[in-house]
Amino acid sequence: MNINTNREYTDVVTIREINAKSILRKHKRIDSWFLSRYGMNLYRGCTHNCVYCDGRAEGYYVDGDFGTEVAGKVNAIEILRRELDPARRRKPLKKGFMMIGGGVGDSYQPIEKQYRISRKALELIAEYQFPVHILTKSTLVKRDIDVLKAINEKNRAIVSFSFSSVDDDISALFEPGVPPPSERLETIKFFKQEGIACGMYLVPVIPFITDKPRLMEDAVRRARDTGVDFINFSGMTLKDGRQKDYFMQTITEHYPDLTSSYRKIYKSDKWGQASGEYYQSIHQTFSTIIDQYKIPSRMPLRLFSDQIDENDLVVALLDHIDYYLKLSGNRSPYGYASYVISQIKEPLTTMRGSFCQMKGIGQSIERVIHEILDSGSSSLYERLSGD
Ligand code: SF4
Repeated sequence: MNINTNREYTDVVTIREINAKSILRKHKRIDSWFLSRYGMNLYRGCTHNCVYCDGRAEGYYVDGDFGTEVAGKVNAIEILRRELDPARRRKPLKKGFMMIGGGVGDSYQPIEKQYRISRKALELIAEYQFPVHILTKSTLVKRDIDVLKAINEKNRAIVSFSFSSVDDDISALFEPGVPPPSERLETIKFFKQEGIACGMYLVPVIPFITDKPRLMEDAVRRARDTGVDFINFSGMTLKDGRQKDYFMQTITEHYPDLTSSYRKIYKSDKWGQASGEYYQSIHQTFSTIIDQYKIPSRMPLRLFSDQIDENDLVVALLDHIDYYLKLSGNRSPYGYASYVISQIKEPLTTMRGSFCQMKGIGQSIERVIHEILDSGSSSLYERLSGD
């Protein structure tokens, strides 16, 4: 079938229908980036066809030609109902956001217009009263404002959009199947006016193209003007194999002068990471800009403190402290402490006074943990985040 997005993306798209064995993916620990405990991929493959997409990498085992083929999990709703229904579960689900998005396919890519699997998943999330966080590049998510508002009235709905920049021309080349950034920004405004919190994921900035300070500042300024609640930031990974080959074809064709610069920073790391110096330099640039605009660079506490349990609150805030310290160029023991706390199954309130006996947790971190347990926040976190 032919699917056209509003950017006249007219490639022939092949749709397959598949049956999934399970839908909910439980995280080993709370994901402090999205504040989610569970995630779901309702489609495999993505016809948004972003040139840098790591869903193309062999390690994700997406069948078919990535970018023009997509599989819809047609039994997803039946399975999800079984997984969400407390009466049909042996163990109750943990409190926390259900994450729709990320992974190997945008849940609001064009196929969703016809299959409506994401909408039906949202309806189940509303019925079983969970909070939800959506990450997409598509403006189609506006269609589901009624369900999102219903979720937001009882729990919380957050809709986040990812961008590699807010430049429509650059996006047309690197994100050929996606509504342009200007439309995504308008959609953030729409949701904010409807009372739904929104995040920008400035992820990934494309090395030597959208990582320029002027473009990063444009993105932050225009996001600020929409009223966005937070901006998360990250650089790009490029794994050897299909992902790197496909990306480098575009660079060779459109930016031939940059090929050697890419070779210098992506040296066949197993995870596709660029060099540490490169990531450090873009984070420094982002840090300077975000400080100037005073927007949180992690989801603010007010959006999640009442949606997760006490142990997860401690883990998330330790992670956020760690991030803010590192973003401002400091060393931090908080990331490891967060990991140690995330391994504890007992309620942390029953363990007061014993944290500093654990490896990686000294007295000052123990004080921070106690403060979070007592007050639901931390003065160190508030100072670093400006929250
Ligand atoms: S929208 Fe996301 S999943 Fe889809 S191609 Fe782009 S980066 Fe990949």
